[in-house]
Amino acid sequence: MSFSTLGLSNEIIRAVTERGYTEPTPIQMQAIPAVLSGSDLLAGAQTGTGKTAGFTLPLLHRLSSDKSVKDSRSEYPPIRALILTPTRELAAQVEESVREYGKYLKLNTMVMFGGVSINPQKRLLKGRVDILVATPGRLLDHVQQGTVKLSHIEVLVLDEADRMLDMGFIHDIRRILSLLPKQRQNLLFFATFSDKLKALAAGLLNHPKMIEVARSNVTADTVVQKVYRVDRDRKRELLTHLIRQYNWYQVLVFTRTKYGADRLVKQLSLNRIQALAIHGNKSQSARTHALEKFKNGSLQVLVATDVAARGLDISELPHVVNFDLPNVPEDYVHRIGRTGRAGASGEAVSLVCVDEYQLLADIEKLIGQQLPLEAIAGFKPNSTTKPEPIQDGRKHKPRGGLDKRKAHSTDKPQAPTSAKKSAKRIVAGGNKSGTRSGASRRSAKRSS
Ligand code: AMP
Repeated sequence: MSFSTLGLSNEIIRAVTERGYTEPTPIQMQAIPAVLSGSDLLAGAQTGTGKTAGFTLPLLHRLSSDKSVKDSRSEYPPIRALILTPTRELAAQVEESVREYGKYLKLNTMVMFGGVSINPQKRLLKGRVDILVATPGRLLDHVQQGTVKLSHIEVLVLDEADRMLDMGFIHDIRRILSLLPKQRQNLLFFATFSDKLKALAAGLLNHPKMIEVARSNVTADTVVQKVYRVDRDRKRELLTHLIRQYNWYQVLVFTRTKYGADRLVKQLSLNRIQALAIHGNKSQSARTHALEKFKNGSLQVLVATDVAARGLDISELPHVVNFDLPNVPEDYVHRIGRTGRAGASGEAVSLVCVDEYQLLADIEKLIGQQLPLEAIAGFKPNSTTKPEPIQDGRKHKPRGGLDKRKAHSTDKPQAPTSAKKSAKRIVAGGNKSGTRSGASRRSAKRSS
């Protein structure tokens, strides 16, 4: 099947062809006609499946073929499409894609997120914006200051909606929904279905078309997964060894905590391996700088926490390393989804110590696959070591009593939800739910 059979305009087909896409991916084959038909959509797609183009291409088609509505009080037409994403990086990435796919159309796109000055955003909002890509917190800041109007939104996209809920954005989302016109098209994309998502979908979507291209909790076949057993105190040494031994040149490393990320960067730098970290305590400019360097190949190792790295698309990323296993098994799927994207092959290596065997078992249960345990010569773990509770920086007292542990906070804004709960498949209907604590709300805001 080709893009032209999907009914998209020549300008859009020209842009995707120039991008090197020859045929639509499975999610695009299903989502594009569904969105073009004007229906609401509930779509589950594995990471890296091409879902961004799945909603962007028909959105661009719709907006460019309909006559834009005039807002009598403004010299510009109003904002007609709103795309909400959980993180700043994802917002930037999605907006870049929208701009690229729409480069032969006369539509203006804007991205807004927190962590940067609000003033340039205010200036842009005074001009023409047809499609707005935003994180919820900063969008509400603009709403509060009266600098954005959402009363003419025709299409709403919630990208990675499951993640937005995990990050505690439910109240922000509900507030934003209350500002939109009732008559609109809603597209909700998720990677993992949960009860919270079911409740949101039930209240938001009107007779949606449902798409699930691949089981949400499966890992891509293109990713080779390896698990190396190692002593907890020798992980940094093993990582350095692997990077050197195999000449890994572009490695995305996940740590559980911000403190762990910074500590690892220091250690790698001491070993003359160039590394930078992205996490919630870094300024937006530091995050953007690190990401740019990593994407253009001038940074060998990027160390990230789950929240910061969510949704990153770095083309043909060859190596992902789980320096720590994630507390939430679904994060394993999201993490390793950074490699092996769009058919390219990749390798995901997990360094697992005795404390993490239960986490590994939970991951294996979720993905329905046993991951063979290996040990690298010279790094065989001591078989007599006893497991210790995993430090997440909040609930546990640190081993060794260093005061520094205060900074040892996780980058996850909410306590992990049960894996079993969130691994459910789609069932239509459900009750409304969703609250979050003040603390989780505050931390979620930091990412917005
Ligand atoms: P996404 O899941 O939207 O983040 O997309 C993952 C990657 O797939 C991105 O690098 C896209 O540029 C790429 N991609 C999207 N659609 C296609 C397609 N039809 N053919 C080839 N690559 C694609």
